[in-house]
Amino acid sequence: MDLQRLSSVILPLTILLTYTSFVLSLLPEALQTVEISSETCTTTDPQSSFATDFDNLSKSIFSKITADPAAALPFATDFGNLSESTPGAVFYPSSPDDIAALVRFSYTNPKPFPISQRGAGHSMYGQTFVPDGVLIDMSSLGRSQVDSRITVVDGPVPYADAGGEQLWIDVLYAALKLGLMPRTLTDYLYPTIGGTLSNAGISGRVFKHGPQISNVYELDVITGTGETVTCSREMNSDLYYAALGGLGQFGVITRARIALEPARKMARWVRLFYTDVKLLMKDQEKLISTENNLSVFDFVGGEVLLSVRKVSAISTSFKLSESDIEKITRLVAEYDGPVYFIDAVAYYDDTTVPSLDQNIKSLLEELHYISGFAFSFDMPLFDFLNRLYYQELARRPLGLWLVPHPWLDLFVPKSKVLEFKSRVFEGILNGNTAAGPVLIFPMNRTKWDDKMSAVTPNEEIFYAVSLLWSAIANDSIILTDLNNQVVNICENYNLGCKKYLPRYTNQEDWQKQFGEKWSEFVSRKKKYDPKALLSPGQKIFTPLELN
Ligand code: FAD
Repeated sequence: MDLQRLSSVILPLTILLTYTSFVLSLLPEALQTVEISSETCTTTDPQSSFATDFDNLSKSIFSKITADPAAALPFATDFGNLSESTPGAVFYPSSPDDIAALVRFSYTNPKPFPISQRGAGHSMYGQTFVPDGVLIDMSSLGRSQVDSRITVVDGPVPYADAGGEQLWIDVLYAALKLGLMPRTLTDYLYPTIGGTLSNAGISGRVFKHGPQISNVYELDVITGTGETVTCSREMNSDLYYAALGGLGQFGVITRARIALEPARKMARWVRLFYTDVKLLMKDQEKLISTENNLSVFDFVGGEVLLSVRKVSAISTSFKLSESDIEKITRLVAEYDGPVYFIDAVAYYDDTTVPSLDQNIKSLLEELHYISGFAFSFDMPLFDFLNRLYYQELARRPLGLWLVPHPWLDLFVPKSKVLEFKSRVFEGILNGNTAAGPVLIFPMNRTKWDDKMSAVTPNEEIFYAVSLLWSAIANDSIILTDLNNQVVNICENYNLGCKKYLPRYTNQEDWQKQFGEKWSEFVSRKKKYDPKALLSPGQKIFTPLELN
């Protein structure tokens, strides 16, 4: 870390500690300062004695900050594992009030410092990095105290009040105790509430209830001035809409009231194969159609198999017999081009079984998958919802989980999917053997709320296309280059794609990403984080530039 960058965080921290010193005159001198060297940033005393000395000031934030490089190390990268940057200091709040105090302190400081909210660090491109400022380790709000930070309320409109630092898996566990579950979940349940709500929270479930941001009744948000605001569609609605999909720019989400619904016990998972993408789209769109409201399936996803080497991976969660795998392998090997499949899943319990069989049978008769290429099996619903975790458990010991992940997530308007398919799936990605699934599934724009910060293409139906690469063969540079080529295709052929979990490093690109929402995004930023202190790792605003 160079001295200039270091001093921009250390100086305010030193001021912070010095400022407290006259209030806390009993402080040993060594504890009041932070040492600066050209290489590292260390407190002069170990954090433990620092904390002990401040025991009687438990509400004070000061004992909860450390600039010890060892403490910063766990936050030096993220799930993407593509870049590294240690935070200037780490803050371990015990309560939302602590966070408010830290933000207020920076905001009112003559030399304000940037602050990053770190959820579970499942970002790909350093979105939580803050080399010149303070990283808030959100987990310290009480991820291990699930009982006090998640409250489930049953009733006509059931909901869970969950801390922004909580993991979705823990909300699911808490809700299941009352026979409930969140209406919509991501494919992976280990990101935090604040982390997915800052993006959107999508999966094959979106067609039914919308993304996770459409299923939040209320938020507590600490803004960039340190003010704590409760907001909803009815109360302080502008901040509510700003924060949802807001990439951490408008505040720290410390609580969300999440919509729940009755939980079913079982899942019937049906997988249907296609070689014709037009038929795949026709069927996927039929299954998500709100007009027909067929209501048989609760989840509609899909994947692209770019090469025969991808087949072995598709039976990790979905149980296929040896002969079925052989059959699918032959299909992919013999077909000159990508093969696609739909994952359609019905959630059910004992009361719905008799009609379920007949409903699925009738519906499948109307679809256009390749004859003989429909497979299905039943599993506990919890195992379906938590399916990626089982993959994580299998991959971790093999060293296949914490590899670089140059992911690219796009929303492609329906009208451009065929062109995207020709240029990307049948073009630059044809025959690609890199590890990691390629997802494709449609969503209805009507299930999104345009007042929120999240960005979608301007068409009623758009497709999520996700290239979820795992660079297990030291191929992250090649895969990053491929991603760039895909993005260039989107731009050069005016496909109207929008990035999901976006990554840009200059404001011109951000402006393009937000399109007509940009000016509102900027004016909300000025209103709620006027010194641009929050979530600088997104690289949308430079701290203080709004002044
Ligand atoms: P972090 O990476 O810690 O932070 C992400 C951003 O949110 C940062 O800008 C941060 O400052 C901000 N932030 C974090 N907490 C808060 C808070 N409390 N208040 C305000 N801002 C905050 N996404 C989907 O939509 N659907 C999926 O199916 C899906 N599957 C995934 C599977 C895997 C294996 C992984 C690794 C990720 C997946 N994601 C998916 C992406 C994931 O939802 C996002 O990356 C999400 O932001 C991660 O949450 P986090 O808690 O790890 O956030």
